[in-house]
Order: sequence, then structure tokens, then C-alpha cells
Amino acid sequence: MGYKKASFIENLAEKIGLIPNLHKEKYQEFEGDMRHFTDEEVAQMYENFPPPEKWDNWVEYDPKAWPRKKKITYQIVPTTCFNCESACGLTAFIDKETQEVKKFEGNPHHPGSRGRNCAKGPATINQITDPDRILFPLKRKGKRGEGEWERITWDEALDTIAVRIRKAIKEDRHNEIAYHVGRPGHEKFMNWILQGWGIDGHNSHTNICSSGARFGYNIWYGYDRPSPDHSNAKFILLISAHLESGHYFNPHAQRIIEGKMKGAKLATMDPRLSNTASMSDYWMPTYPGTEAAVLLAMALIILEEGLYNKEYLENWTNWQEYLKALHGDKEVTFENYIAAMIDEYKEFTPEYAEKESGVKAEMILEQPD
Ligand code: SF4
Repeated sequence: MGYKKASFIENLAEKIGLIPNLHKEKYQEFEGDMRHFTDEEVAQMYENFPPPEKWDNWVEYDPKAWPRKKKITYQIVPTTCFNCESACGLTAFIDKETQEVKKFEGNPHHPGSRGRNCAKGPATINQITDPDRILFPLKRKGKRGEGEWERITWDEALDTIAVRIRKAIKEDRHNEIAYHVGRPGHEKFMNWILQGWGIDGHNSHTNICSSGARFGYNIWYGYDRPSPDHSNAKFILLISAHLESGHYFNPHAQRIIEGKMKGAKLATMDPRLSNTASMSDYWMPTYPGTEAAVLLAMALIILEEGLYNKEYLENWTNWQEYLKALHGDKEVTFENYIAAMIDEYKEFTPEYAEKESGVKAEMILEQPD
């Protein structure tokens, strides 16, 4: 990573002002990698990004007018990408003359994405200019399936739907009401309403996407999309997460790569040799659906070899309750708890995991340096 030295052609083009000077003195200090820099320092590297004090009046040349130098004055407005739930920071460049959004770029002041977006972020411009985008309510005309629609007002749309919902609730037909949203970004609020109405009908693409993983996280520690401290991790285990080829959590991806640059080892469980797997220190090609066997074997090794975080386990798990409920004959001590857990997990050996998943037992046993 870092900035390369300017080539002869780049030098010439920068000198005569054909392209901006991307090779100023101070950039050279970033030669090498960026692992020593804080988030703020990384943000400062975006020197060519307009500083916020100029966001109300930012002038750039129109690239489409090249080689003419046609200036466009923008107002830059911070906004959020919602093409996935990472909700990275974007900035919308609004042409002050036409009031049209002309492009989206990253927002280096956003703490999550730090100005680095995946391709879908700037591509948001395609959505707002999509000729098929529905900008107002439409009501079906004619028979279902005939494809005929007419424009109605928002009031008519809301009244029509409200009357039908009210009628269904009054007639005790709660199960005939469903709410569907593409990407839920306001779960709590809408759930309060639906639950207040006695309706169990919230649907979204998440229901067939990440809800299984989120449910696990939620019951485990109360957050459905946690953000581990990847950039300071020593070992990162990815379970079918395609960071390099389209997995949507770009803020995680950039920190995982930072962690790797600091020496963290990366292991990826994935049946196929994905781009991410190929960048990993360990590729664990599990048969689809057998990842749990490997995880259970890892848990057994961690317990047997005392590799767990004792302080955390002692203070943040209900080990006393577990012992009392399932091993009433044993004294309630942490050591007895660990012994009971080892007994609980004893069938999940690395050999068992290999048989189930296809991942070699030696790889499961291997400890990164
Ligand atoms: S990861 Fe990409 S799609 Fe998701 S919010 Fe960030 S820029 Fe948008």
C-alpha cells in the first residue's frame, strides 16, 4: 500500500496542470504500508478530498467536458450508503446550478468506512437516476397480471392501505397483514407498531439472508451485527465470508486486511477456493453445512489446552448456574466447570471434525505462531 513515485509522464502531466499533483512531498512518507497510522491520520491522507469548510462551494472541472476546462460548482452533502447494512459514509456532489446529484464519493470523516467504499457506494448514482425508479404511488388498473398501473396521490395510497389494515384488525384477521421492507433500517420502531397492533408479520430480505447468524449473535451478547476489533486481532476466523469478492461489510474488510498487515493470521472456512480463501493463511474447505463440527473441535482443543480467556469466562458466562443445574453433585468451582465442559465436548475431536467436514485434523490442531 502507499503512494508510488510519479512516473515521467505523470510528473510532466502534473507539472503542466493536466492532472492534479498526486505526488507531493508529503505523500512519499506513506510509502510502504499504512499500519502505523491512526484513523485520523488515514483520513488526512485524503488531501485531494474537499475539506469540509469548502463543502458549500466546491469547484471541480467537469471530466466529461475534457479537454475543455469547464468548471462545475458543487454543494457537497454527507449522506449514507444503504446498499448494504454497513451504512458507509458517502458524500453527494450536488450541482449548484441544476440542483442535481452528479456523483457520490466516500466520506473520509465517516468513522466506519473512513472514505473507503466498495464499488456499490459510488454506484448509488445509478439508482437515483434509474428511469425505472418508482417515484410516486401506483395503483393497479384492470385485472391482476395485466400490468396496467395508474398514478395516485400519497393521501389516497395511505388512506386505502390504512382502511384495509384497520378493517382486518377489527375483524380479528391479524394474520392477513404483513409488512415487507427491502432492507430494515428501523427495526425497533416498526416492530413496536406491528406488535402494538398484534401483528406477527414483519418480513424483509434479511429473513432469508443474515437472520440466522444475527439471531445467534443476539442471544449470545445482545447485538445482531457486532464489529470485532479486527485490526488488532492476532487470529481471524472467517466462516464463508467473502471479503475480497463482494461480501458487503467493507468496513470490516478493510480492518481485517489491516490486522493481516500487522501479522494476524487469517483462516477461512469455505467449500470453494474463493478469493478470500486464497488470501488466507489457512483455507479450511468444509463440506457445506459442516462448519459446526470444526468449531466444536476447536472448542474442545481450547478447553483441553487452557487457551480460553479465563477472566472473561469467569465473569461473563453463567458457569455457576450450568454446574448447579446439570452437575448438582459437584462443588461449584471454575475448575469443575471446565472439566464438565471438556466432558461435554469430548466426542468432538479433530478426527470427528475431519470425518464430518473434510478439513484435515492436523490443520484444526495447528496453532498459528
Ligand atoms: S460496504 Fe459498499 S454497499 Fe455496503 S454500505 Fe459500504 S459502500 Fe455501501
